[in-house]
Amino acid sequence: MSLRIEQGDITKYEVDAIVNAANSSLLGGGGVDGAIHRAAGPELLAECRTLGGCPTGEAKITKGYNLKAKWIVHTVGPVFYENQRDECAELLKSCYKNSIVLALLNECKSIAFPLISAGVYGYPKDEALDIAVSCIQRFADNMDAVIVLFDAEAFEIAKRKYPEFIIIPSVTCPIFEIAKKANQN
Ligand code: ADP
Repeated sequence: MSLRIEQGDITKYEVDAIVNAANSSLLGGGGVDGAIHRAAGPELLAECRTLGGCPTGEAKITKGYNLKAKWIVHTVGPVFYENQRDECAELLKSCYKNSIVLALLNECKSIAFPLISAGVYGYPKDEALDIAVSCIQRFADNMDAVIVLFDAEAFEIAKRKYPEFIIIPSVTCPIFEIAKKANQN
């Protein structure tokens, strides 16, 4: 298994599955959900209409249509409430676990995740990242996984907390030198 953290746009990733932070209607929305629907094309919405929505913490899978990714796993993260921290954390963990299980059932070897719930749904980015990293390490142990962070703030947090997963591409250094350097920063 490998885990990387990168800054980028998840719609551009050529992986077996990308995960979508959807809402429970599965009929599209803003943020990463809107970006995925725009990039995948209208057939995605047509398939989503047949799925009957998705409860918070669960996941459903569709084809990737115009994306380079073969599959899209749609999961519904919790809206963050300060006074329901534990329940929110459990639901967010379920999103990662259920998404990974669905991807594995569809024979995926590579998967890309956005930072689920950390946009409009208000989850503190550092806590959302801790949950993402621990769940992916625990459940996606047979896959190449990448957490794709869109915003600079989330990526700064990742560089500080998880330098070992941030690999800056370079043509001159062997990969272990790069990883070592990231660890030192
Ligand atoms: P939620 O409703 O689950 O909070 P959002 O889409 O609002 O979902 O945000 C989830 C995360 O996805 C945020 O950290 C946001 O910055 C990020 N995001 C938005 N667009 C993209 C994209 N194209 N690729 C990857 N991540 C994205």
